[in-house]
Amino acid sequence: MSSRSENLFAQAQQHLVGGVNSAVRAFRSVGGTPVFIRRGEGAWIEDVDGKRYVDYVLSYGPLAIGHAHPEVVEAIADTAARGTSFGAPTELETELAVQVKSLMPGIERLRMVNSGTEACMSAVRLARGYTGRDRVLKFRGNYHGHVDALLVEAGSGVLTLGIPGSPGVPASVTETTLTAPYNDIDAVRQLFAEYGETIAAVLVEPVAGNMNCVPAMPAFLEGLRSLCDDSGALLVFDEVMSGFRAAPGGAQAAYGVTPDLTCLGKVIGGGLPTAALGGRADVMEYLAPTGPVYQAGTLSGNPLAMASGLATLRNLTRPGVHAGAEAWTGRLLAGLEARAEAAGVGLTTTQAGTMFGLFFTDKDEIVGFEDVAGCDADRFKRFFHGMLEAGVYLAPSAFEAGFVSTAHDEAALAHTLDAAERVFAHL
Ligand SMILES: *Cc1c(COP(=O)(O)O)cnc(C)c1O
Repeated sequence: MSSRSENLFAQAQQHLVGGVNSAVRAFRSVGGTPVFIRRGEGAWIEDVDGKRYVDYVLSYGPLAIGHAHPEVVEAIADTAARGTSFGAPTELETELAVQVKSLMPGIERLRMVNSGTEACMSAVRLARGYTGRDRVLKFRGNYHGHVDALLVEAGSGVLTLGIPGSPGVPASVTETTLTAPYNDIDAVRQLFAEYGETIAAVLVEPVAGNMNCVPAMPAFLEGLRSLCDDSGALLVFDEVMSGFRAAPGGAQAAYGVTPDLTCLGKVIGGGLPTAALGGRADVMEYLAPTGPVYQAGTLSGNPLAMASGLATLRNLTRPGVHAGAEAWTGRLLAGLEARAEAAGVGLTTTQAGTMFGLFFTDKDEIVGFEDVAGCDADRFKRFFHGMLEAGVYLAPSAFEAGFVSTAHDEAALAHTLDAAERVFAHL
């Protein structure tokens, strides 16, 4: 007997490429059929067959306060009742910008866009326009959306599908892209020695969340800051994932290193499609209409997305709210490690605020892509399917980070740890 998800997936494949609208969702690297979801509430989601799961995907990060939070639902409904889009300024855009600026030390001006990809694409164009230089430097296993110039040794779906880059990206577009190993400041120093005068920007995920979850070493980010200062390159933190998760003020607040530009996405829209580019006023004002670098968007700053993002951030920044979810994440990881150890399963975990990583390895430290690639992929697959069966929804790839929301409570914790104990016993 086939499940409703299997039937729906068979239908979807006739109409949507691979049955999905974003590659990782297709379960290609873990096998089996993607689960079709019909609703979510708090920490839980329910599939079309009525099975419930504790959700650690949270739409790949955006849902920092859980599914269908009443404050978010109400904000969206109230806003929608007054019209969904105007293509003219609204008060909500400024309100969200003020909220973000109050949290992120590196942001003096913002430009709202519609996806993290767009934020990173615009960051590259702005950095090139501002500095008059062409080269960009990125890190192996970091993902900055599917921007042509940045689709080099990228993480996320590119890693999951095991493809080195993508056809359709001309060599002339990527020949100005330099890559270095993550957390390796000596490698970056060498590249600067050779190309420093021509580097417009260094793009980095200050917590790498697209090759599982690998926090930066503090000295690495500090080193990038001083190399950029010395050479006149802009330091761009891609905080599409780490923003409002590594800390309410993102990794820049957590690490105390201030970038010139910041890419935001995911949590900033609270589950609706919005993202932003922000940074130093003198750099940002180089964008149209105050500056010569062109950038625009029909639905940018969309009222529903602004309302959803604002409601999410207002809730998340109340005293103790983020800290509670961060502490919960720590208890989850300690509980998983203890159960893995009792079962003789080699498991190393990482945490950055409400993001986490699980690595099936005997190594104690995960600092770069090679450590991630060296993990036991088969064991991850068996763990993934065991947990799914037991009602715990993890990303269907060993190269995605896990996420916790403020709605994850004692019941969700007990459910997850009981499931893990049973699954570890058969790994
Ligand atoms: C998700 C992500 C992106 C891309 O954002 P989209 O909204 O999927 O285009 C870019 N950078 C990082 C670090 C991300 O995690």
